[in-house]
Amino acid sequence: MQLARRILNLLKTDSGAWEPYYRARELKEAGEAVVNLTVGDHDIPTDPAILAEMSESASRGRTGYSVVSGTTALRKAVATRIEKRTGVPTGIENVVITCGGQGALLVSHLAILNPGDKALFFDPYYPTYPGTIMAAGGTPVPVATSPRRDFRPEGKALDQAAVGATSLLFNSPNNPTGTIYPQETIAMIAAAAQKHDLWVISDEVYDTQIWSGEHASIRALDGMQERTFVIGSMSKSFAMTGSRVGWLAGPAEIMNALGELLTVVTFGVPEYIQDAALYALNRDLEFEPKVAEPFRRRLSVALDVLRNQRVVSLVPPMGAMYLMLDVRATGLSGRDFALHLLEHERIAVMPGESFGRSAAGHVRVAMTVPAEDLGDALRRLASVAGELARNRSATAAPAAA
Ligand code: PMP
Repeated sequence: MQLARRILNLLKTDSGAWEPYYRARELKEAGEAVVNLTVGDHDIPTDPAILAEMSESASRGRTGYSVVSGTTALRKAVATRIEKRTGVPTGIENVVITCGGQGALLVSHLAILNPGDKALFFDPYYPTYPGTIMAAGGTPVPVATSPRRDFRPEGKALDQAAVGATSLLFNSPNNPTGTIYPQETIAMIAAAAQKHDLWVISDEVYDTQIWSGEHASIRALDGMQERTFVIGSMSKSFAMTGSRVGWLAGPAEIMNALGELLTVVTFGVPEYIQDAALYALNRDLEFEPKVAEPFRRRLSVALDVLRNQRVVSLVPPMGAMYLMLDVRATGLSGRDFALHLLEHERIAVMPGESFGRSAAGHVRVAMTVPAEDLGDALRRLASVAGELARNRSATAAPAAA
């Protein structure tokens, strides 16, 4: 018996890139203390007031099937939020509720890709991107970016890759690099999408975690509404990762068809979860800053620690909850450095290679522990990197002489 090719190797990356992650899990299961800076999940749980609303809604009997595209009240709240923040007129006909941002990533690609269609995304990327495209039947095509240009996409590379492509998925504020694309980059992407007639899927799940610069939504640019889907989520902004609720916003006639697609994919998101999401969105100015604030503080501590050493460098993140550290001075790949760090210091980070080729020689640190612990872990990481770099120059010196 054989499985369909569509589901084989959905999360395949360069060989061994996930090894440190699995090794950290093994160590933890064996009872060892490991500082886990791998996955982008909040260390602070969902606010009790949101959970109380969830529980009350369930107790009121909202436990049956929901309207598949989402409750009218939640779709309206999402539409209002988008319109308020981007200025683009948005109604419930432009919004469907999905099982998290990931659900929106999948259904948007399912809606626009025919088998084998070329679907672009920028490298480094959130690791589900290629697999999501493959599950939707498309051919994933990464477009490289470089730390030399702060991981910002470049027009020439995009223009070349876009020939014959169907769609472009991008993520700003970006996981894993923390880059926020400036207005001119967003305009460049919009121009390329129009020139090559691409669908654009704009993953904006980190739009409330902004440390510097400004987030611009591509859907607000001229001529982009009819070709753009925006992905949003309660996960990061409201610390609701486990509730699996997000949304997709886009052209009304397509959202209508998506109702049918969602019927065969998930048959809706539980109503008590949607009610909790509505409660939270109605109090966005209370919850969003509260959820974002610890990351801002941690970033400041992290940058202070990293300023005091010369071996590890980074493009300072403008948003999201990660640091992408360049460890090439150690002479190790991201994977080997991550394994070394885990063995010697019991600190778990993700190799850059798990996010694509453009992040080789880097490691991604999720700022998901309290500021003091993060500072301590980074001091130890920098010290390990320094030792490796010194050993490297010591062994290289005789050959050079
Ligand atoms: N996009 C990006 C860039 C992410 O980092 C994540 C989660 N880590 C998601 C989408 C999906 O998040 P969720 O399904 O929890 O909304």
